[in-house]
Amino acid sequence: MRMKISRLVGGLEPSATLAMSAKAKELKASGRQILDLSVGEPDFPTPWHICEAAIAAMKAGHTRYTVASGIPELKQAVVADYKRRYGLDYSPSQVVISNGAKHAIHNALAAVLDPDDEVIIPAPYWVSYSELVKLTGAKPVIVNTREENQFKLLPEEFRRAITPKTKLLLLCSPCNPTGTTYTREEAERLADIVLEHDLLVLADEIYDQLVYDGLPFASFPTLRPELQERTIVINGVSKTYAMTGWRIGWSLSPAHVATAMGDLQSQETSNPCSISQYAALAALNGPQECVAEMRTEFARRRDYVRQRLAAIPKVSFPEMTGAFYAFVNISAYLGKSYNGKIINNTADWCLEFLAKEGVATVMGSAFGAEGYVRLSFAASMEALEEALNRFEKFLLSAK
Ligand code: PMP
Ligand code: GLU
Repeated sequence: MRMKISRLVGGLEPSATLAMSAKAKELKASGRQILDLSVGEPDFPTPWHICEAAIAAMKAGHTRYTVASGIPELKQAVVADYKRRYGLDYSPSQVVISNGAKHAIHNALAAVLDPDDEVIIPAPYWVSYSELVKLTGAKPVIVNTREENQFKLLPEEFRRAITPKTKLLLLCSPCNPTGTTYTREEAERLADIVLEHDLLVLADEIYDQLVYDGLPFASFPTLRPELQERTIVINGVSKTYAMTGWRIGWSLSPAHVATAMGDLQSQETSNPCSISQYAALAALNGPQECVAEMRTEFARRRDYVRQRLAAIPKVSFPEMTGAFYAFVNISAYLGKSYNGKIINNTADWCLEFLAKEGVATVMGSAFGAEGYVRLSFAASMEALEEALNRFEKFLLSAK
């Protein structure tokens, strides 16, 4: 007898970003030298004062269950962070600390969506959004945006997608995978439509501290006074403090929604790791120079990647204002022969590129944008230089 997988889980795609990174790790383990530009994860070590706080937490005996929704000190630190950086007023009862931002997104969607609700997701979108929406029984409504508009959702595109079933807009800025960031004015135009149609917003702001060229970032609830009560903000330590493995993320939401998420979490995972919570506390309350240093280094790499890509004929890419991704249009190089093998789509292209050149990237199709390849520049300059040499060489080998 073969167990049958449920309809909901059987219908999910595995995370393509994690799958490509697993493939890269597998090839590395087999002895090949692989340049991994697939997964979006800072290559810096977690700053040492944060690691020391984790050691101190263990020594102090913080090795037991905590409140399921997170320790009060960390909730308070999250509140203080959004107050300091955005002037927003939240109370600790509006914060839920979860096992990474991905888990916070899952909690948020599970807390507010009912089957048959529609969720508007601008494409290209981060791989997990559509699947986490599906897991609630709600329906992802994918709205294609255009490269010439920097892949930002235009007000008219947003309006056209709204139906009586629309419940929520899922917005990621700075955006994974496109690397673009909404200006305050652009986001305000979307915010007005949200208010007009009485919608909710899930604002994924996990890259809000990785915005370049001194551009300001407008947190979604700051756009209009009425937005705080209809927005769930997602953030966490993974990207800002190079803490992907520690698995701490959070949400800020209306208190009754936070209570619902906390209740859900108390049944499904209990608290996120107690030690990681104390480390995250040190990240938020400790010196912030490390954030600026990492941002400066990412900006330097961004400049390099942009300059290298601009020199490759017939590729294009949106502005690279935030996060650490280049989203490259390689459609002119599809339907061509690579060493006698015709490659028609980016999934095959990325696999062939990995097999032949040893560079891991992620296919645009995983983000709802065929024709594009995502390169993460959260890698060393040496790795980027060599990976881009191979990227260019492989593209130009197409006949
Ligand atoms: N949102 C976006 C847009 C991301 O790129 C990521 C990266 N993993 C996450 C959420 C989840 O982050 P975490 O590692 O904290 O779960
Ligand atoms: N968010 C990162 C990425 O897009 C990490 C992988 C994941 O969580 O899917 O590559």
